[in-house]
Amino acid sequence: KFKSRILSAEEIRRALTRIAHEVVEKNKGTDRLCFVGIHTRGITLAQRLRELVRQFEGVEVPMGILDITLYRDDLSEIAVQPKVRETRIPFDIGGRSVVLVDDVLFTGRTARAALDALIDLGRPSRIYLAVLVDRGHRELPIRADFVGKNLPTAKSEVVKVKVREVDGEEAVELWEL
Ligand code: 5GP
Ligand code: MG
Repeated sequence: KFKSRILSAEEIRRALTRIAHEVVEKNKGTDRLCFVGIHTRGITLAQRLRELVRQFEGVEVPMGILDITLYRDDLSEIAVQPKVRETRIPFDIGGRSVVLVDDVLFTGRTARAALDALIDLGRPSRIYLAVLVDRGHRELPIRADFVGKNLPTAKSEVVKVKVREVDGEEAVELWEL
């Protein structure tokens, strides 16, 4: 059941523009920078950040993807664990500043799995986490470095992130399950 609109297309564009600037500022430029998008919408958002950095700085930074899905351990109801399905990072992340990009940060378990996968691949000099929405309810000591919108939610609520490339429309909405 639809509850409210959290971000319009314009607000998403402004949030991503700000994050792109913050990334370049924090990294002190684009040197050794790269983006890694997490499955569907994190990949779209990473592509957009990369394009914004290209516009502002005139530099094309490399981008990779991680496909991570949640799976439920049959032995235990609580053991919902994210599993890395596919990694496509066609460059060496050793010594790089990696910006992990996802649409929504919730328990932190997906980000943790992503960190594991990245660290298996090499030794980045720094890993940042950028998310469009932080909806709270962390179960691990994980925080985002770049946040589009902090949105306190109930666990019974869900944040719908719609992006043009995937959903044909552009919005962030709050829904009741
Ligand atoms: P976490 O692993 O932090 O619990 O959940 C984050 C991952 O699950 C992200 O990849 C995100 O896409 C997805 N996710 C968790 N909660 C939500 C939500 O309310 N809305 C959306 N769109 N994705 C969510
Ligand atoms: Mg996801």
